[in-house]
Amino acid sequence: TKPKTRLPSWLKTDIPAGDNVTSIRKTLRSLKLHTVCEEARCPNMGECWGGGKHGTATATIMIMGDTCTRGCRFCSVKTAKNPAALDPDEPRNVATALAKWGLDYVVLTSVDRDDLVADFGANHFASTVENIREMAPAMMIECLTPDFLGRPELVERVARSGLDVYAHNIETVEALQRSVRDHRAGYKQSMFVLEHAKKSKPTLLTKSSIMLGVGETDAEVLQTMRDLRSAGVDIVTLGQYMRPTKRHMKVHEYVTPEKFKHWEEVGKELGFVYAASGPLVRSSYKAGEFFISEILR
Ligand code: SF4
Ligand code: SF4
Repeated sequence: TKPKTRLPSWLKTDIPAGDNVTSIRKTLRSLKLHTVCEEARCPNMGECWGGGKHGTATATIMIMGDTCTRGCRFCSVKTAKNPAALDPDEPRNVATALAKWGLDYVVLTSVDRDDLVADFGANHFASTVENIREMAPAMMIECLTPDFLGRPELVERVARSGLDVYAHNIETVEALQRSVRDHRAGYKQSMFVLEHAKKSKPTLLTKSSIMLGVGETDAEVLQTMRDLRSAGVDIVTLGQYMRPTKRHMKVHEYVTPEKFKHWEEVGKELGFVYAASGPLVRSSYKAGEFFISEILR
């Protein structure tokens, strides 16, 4: 069924259904990989999986299950207090599957597992990276991580596991954290995670995303970008919040493409290595293509 609210023209895209995407989908079923690309019905699938103009095929894989212990108001992932136990074979299986797929760039992400009080899944995350490193040495790996409740030794464990990019999303400005994110998340905690990841391994690239259109002011966005730079963050992405269902928080505003362009300029001025900003930009948007063109150039 069609959504009743009318979207501005710049947000209307077709879900790609090219031959490439269809055949990859079949492979995924047999490999039992869960891509965020498919689950979020991301409009960039054709471009990301197809590799864009630099031929860097990128996909986002979800590990540690499909059920989150948190309940952020913008997120469509299902939630429970005690999700299923972790699959101890997952790190190995994911690595095997990814090596078979032959991706150039993978983004690993996960739900938040506050039920796993020993390490919140940090060792599982790190072990997945280590397995991929072993089985597909050339693959570039980005991890979009939970906050591990700001525990420094857990951030360090993941930061030193062999990944190339450590991403953790600040999601929104400081004043809106409580109304947008789960109460266990927080602005200072997330800034700390980013700062500590960099400190643990200075050669890492760190990255964070801000959702726009949830009620933030321009001054607050600017402040958030400045704070990210102060935490040593290298890459920032800004995109439009889209309401997944009626049960989720409302879109406060559809930010114009011009405004997004403005934030991209600001990002460059503030000294980010890379700033991607646009209505359809998502955290992992063409992450691989960017890596090849900007970092390895
Ligand atoms: Fe997948 Fe991210 Fe690309 Fe969307 S932007 S298709 S979620 S890799
Ligand atoms: Fe969604 Fe992440 Fe929040 Fe869980 S912690 S509800 S996966 S945004």
